[in-house]
Order: sequence, then structure tokens, then C-alpha cells
Amino acid sequence: MAETIFSKIIHKEIPATVVYEDEQAMAFLDATPVHPGHTLVIPKEASRNLLEISGESWGAVTEAVRKLAPAIMKATGASGINILMNNGQVAGQVVFHTHIHLIPRFEGDGLELWHGTPYKTPEESKEIGEKIIEALK
Ligand code: AMP
Repeated sequence: MAETIFSKIIHKEIPATVVYEDEQAMAFLDATPVHPGHTLVIPKEASRNLLEISGESWGAVTEAVRKLAPAIMKATGASGINILMNNGQVAGQVVFHTHIHLIPRFEGDGLELWHGTPYKTPEESKEIGEKIIEALK
């Protein structure tokens, strides 16, 4: 896998504000935060995104997210937190080393997420639901 800016952070080749580290995962502050305290959690094992990550790495990363979320809220005084992940260029992924964004949220902070559109018919949702169930086989 091609080296990314995050592998350089893992190997301490470039600086980052590291807030958590264990054998399999680490977390550091995003360099251009949505709000101060915006943190990225990454696996140390190389993978481009969720579509490639091993189950073991995913377990380590999500456990780190579980520990970090309340700590980030406490440290920033946030009253909520978004856990987001961009997988693939079309989904907004820029750095191709798996990472999860933890973004503290504040009352009236004005940050908007996406707006959903209802399915046009019950058949439309049934069809896509069945395709997903089939793809899981
Ligand atoms: P994504 O669009 O999900 O790939 O997000 C990549 C994130 O990495 C962006 O929010 C960037 O601000 C952040 N980022 C890029 N380079 C660095 C760096 N050297 N240290 C910390 N965060 C970084």
C-alpha cells in the first residue's frame, strides 16, 4: 500500500498532537478541525479504508473511538459528538489510510449534515433491501 501522511504520523516522521496510542491504534488531532478537539482515530496496520481493514484492526479502532468520545466531550465541553468516516474518493476521502473522525458538537454550532429523501415507493426500499441481504451472502 502506498505510504500516506498518516503512516508518517504512525512512524513519528512528521509531528501530530497524539492523544491516544496502543499497539494497534492511535488518535491525533485533525490539522484542520471542524471544531477544536476534532480527532482522527486510525489503525496502525495499513489499510485504505473500511473496505480493506481487517476485523482485528477495526475492533481496535472502534474500541479506541469508544474510549475517546467521552474524553473529547469532557475536554471540549461538547454536548454531542459525530463519529464519521469517509470511504472512497466519491465519499469525500482524501487520505487513503483508514480513519474515523470524532467531531465534538455544540448547541447551535451551525454544522449541517446531509438531508435525507424518502423512498418514492415501498417497492423501491424493498428492492434495495433485498439486494443488500443478497450481497451479504
Ligand atoms: P478525509 O476527507 O476523511 O480523508 O479526511 C482527512 C483528514 O485528515 C482531513 O480532515 C485533514 O484535515 C486531516 N489531515 C490531513 N493531514 C493531516 C495531518 N498531517 N495531521 C492531522 N490531520 C491531517
